[in-house]
Amino acid sequence: MSSIPKIVIVGAGYGGILTAQQLQKELKHNEADVTLINRHDYHYITTHLHMPAAGTDTIEHSRIPIAQLIDEFKVDLVKGTVKEIIPKEKKIVLEDGSLSYDYLVIGLGGEPETFGIPGMDKFALTIRSINSVRLIREHIEYQLALYKNDGKPGRLNFVVGGAGFSGIEFVAELADRLPQLARAYDIDFNRIQIINVEAAPTALPGFDPELVEYAMDVLKRKGVTFRIGIPIKECLQDGVIVGEGEKIEACTVVWTGGIRGNGLIEKAGFEVMRGRVKIDDFLRAPGHDDIFIIGDSSLMFNPEGRPYPPTAQIAMQQGVLCAKNLAATLRKKELHKFVFSNKGTVASLGKGEAVAVVGKRKIKGWVAAQLKKIVDLRYLFIIGGIPLVLKKGRFF
Ligand code: FAD
Ligand code: NAD
Repeated sequence: MSSIPKIVIVGAGYGGILTAQQLQKELKHNEADVTLINRHDYHYITTHLHMPAAGTDTIEHSRIPIAQLIDEFKVDLVKGTVKEIIPKEKKIVLEDGSLSYDYLVIGLGGEPETFGIPGMDKFALTIRSINSVRLIREHIEYQLALYKNDGKPGRLNFVVGGAGFSGIEFVAELADRLPQLARAYDIDFNRIQIINVEAAPTALPGFDPELVEYAMDVLKRKGVTFRIGIPIKECLQDGVIVGEGEKIEACTVVWTGGIRGNGLIEKAGFEVMRGRVKIDDFLRAPGHDDIFIIGDSSLMFNPEGRPYPPTAQIAMQQGVLCAKNLAATLRKKELHKFVFSNKGTVASLGKGEAVAVVGKRKIKGWVAAQLKKIVDLRYLFIIGGIPLVLKKGRFF
């Protein structure tokens, strides 16, 4: 039997891929066996998914075969769905078998948080994976085709629940896409409504107010209707109930009301807050020096004591440090504390428009849209170098 320590990474998202790639650089030959388990044999670029969801970009721009991102001489790729994590037995149960580990990295991402809103799980669509956005894209076109046959007005109403970054970026793409679809389906675009419902007193809560106003103005001009300060109370097959009981008819409801940690983590017995584990400074689960949790399933607080929002940016930085700390653990060296380096925030508002905060600078319009492209291209460069930038990059 091999005495080489076994490192298993579950989830090949932003955190998992960066961990695997950094381990390839850090570890010497035979220092550890590394296995990367992911539900699909491709990595998807979650930060792009609002575009294929609306139909403004192809699915293929948002996914990359994992085999192209790792060195399979150094990392074993297992395509499989994790069903259970059993920390006591150091075991991962897959749909078809199980694996043991000495060290585990959990990078399983998050799940939509529905806050127990009745009907949301059942009737709303969510932007979480390639498969979920395929469904949204097909559903939108199908509603327009159905409208031409049954004339049901709710088919022309598109409700997006939540005006956080995902909601805003998605309604922007919808506003770009629906005029084209309306022409293709011989429907007057003025009859189509894109309604973004937000419970908080403002869209993009916590973001710079001047940029929020700019973003809302841009989107209103593109045809988006905002219902701000009004919570969705229930989701139905043909609409949503908001505020004090008003019904908004809509055969399409896309829920972007927030995310929680992957449900497998709570089931594994970890203490969680909204499904996320409060990890230590070295990215480990409390009481488990052999388990690192990164990305959307982890919870970390900033120096002011507020939780960092779950973003690709933080997941990537955690992935790199996680690999370094795994190598340090194997070598019985000191581990490094995680320090988040905030590179800024850019939110796309559809073609040629975006808002951004970088350091103390506020940027908007075309310049911010170019910045968004640079951020996207930078990610492709980090994980796949120039060849991936040329293959998957969006330059226009
Ligand atoms: P993920 O990237 O979600 O990866 C999780 C991986 O685990 C996936 O590959 C999944 O297939 C796999 N997996 C899940 N369950 C299982 C299972 N049971 N078995 C096997 N594999 C499994 N953040 C930013 O910083 N900037 C942005 O511009 C930005 N834009 C966004 C736009 C949208 C529309 C959305 C939805 C999110 C956006 N985010 C953005 C947030 C960002 O995408 C997430 O924070 C990031 O993806 C988290 O990375 P992760 O590694 O934790 O998980
Ligand atoms: P979020 O939690 O950031 O936003 C969800 C929004 O839904 C909030 O504004 C909330 O008030 C609202 N909401 C909750 N319950 C509601 C209800 N019942 N009715 C109406 N509105 C309700 O979630 P998200 O937008 O999916 O973002 C998830 C994470 O991904 C965040 O950390 C975000 O920063 C990140 N992200 C970043 C970008 C970017 O940087 N461009 C883009 C997308 C997502």
